[in-house]
Amino acid sequence: MKMLNFRNVAAALLMSFSWSGTTHAEAPLSYTNEIAPGVYSFGGGNGYHSMFMVTDDGVAVFESVSNAHAEKLLAAIKEITDQPVKYAFHSHNHWDHAGGGKVFQDAGAETVMHSQAAAWLEANPGMETSPPDVTWDGNHRDFEIGGTTVELHYLGLNHGLGMTVFVIPEKKTAYIADLVSPNRVMFTIVPDFNIREWERTLGEILELDFDVAVCSHNGLPAEQVPDGCTKTHVEEEVQFIGDLRNAIFAEFQKGTPADQIPGTVELPQYADWEHYDDWLEMNTWRVMLDLWMGPYPWVPKS
Ligand SMILES: [Zn+2]
Repeated sequence: MKMLNFRNVAAALLMSFSWSGTTHAEAPLSYTNEIAPGVYSFGGGNGYHSMFMVTDDGVAVFESVSNAHAEKLLAAIKEITDQPVKYAFHSHNHWDHAGGGKVFQDAGAETVMHSQAAAWLEANPGMETSPPDVTWDGNHRDFEIGGTTVELHYLGLNHGLGMTVFVIPEKKTAYIADLVSPNRVMFTIVPDFNIREWERTLGEILELDFDVAVCSHNGLPAEQVPDGCTKTHVEEEVQFIGDLRNAIFAEFQKGTPADQIPGTVELPQYADWEHYDDWLEMNTWRVMLDLWMGPYPWVPKS
């Protein structure tokens, strides 16, 4: 009897999440767009967005995602430059982001990942992940490509393992995976997020040196997505988390039974955000249960 392959199921599940209930992105968003001199956003038409920087001494790629995505990304780069890809940077350990590295390794690039993500993937390899060529430790590392500095920032246990935010100060650009998703509520049950650390991290992201970023997921209207995201979207992510928490507190204080709170909370100011209708209740369960368990010092104790 054929065994059910969990990894296939997980991949199919994530693909369906990418598009189910989508209000804006009716057409797959495949695009390449120059967001700063030599820095490009790239949409794979699959709900995942990458970035690359072209220099006269090679190309840096941010987020290979999957084999199919990486092949399309490599083809898009070849449309723009003959320079080889020198580095492909991975943001974190999750299979749906860390796949496709081998496509760039086969093209002669070195893949780069935080050691915490690499250790987890060594123990839990995905179908399309491959061991990185370079790992790094600690909170900050710089890479030089064509005379341009790429900053790698590990900001703590916010989501997944080894989560890295990339900044190119000279270009005032950044790449942010999963931590900021413009115009979209939190992802389903908010899996593998530490919500309190996530909020702290968002405050630190606001201090980083960039004006425009590529966010790995983006719920903005289709015509705006290729332009990436900004610090306004980081602030909106912070605001959404706070507004959801306050709405849950209000129900606690009214005495609404906990199991009825997720079906009760409404945040009409976010009604136009992607997945508001189908994910808000799941978001509320997760944030409420985190509050219930008491990691927040401002939870009213009775
Ligand atoms: Zn993730």
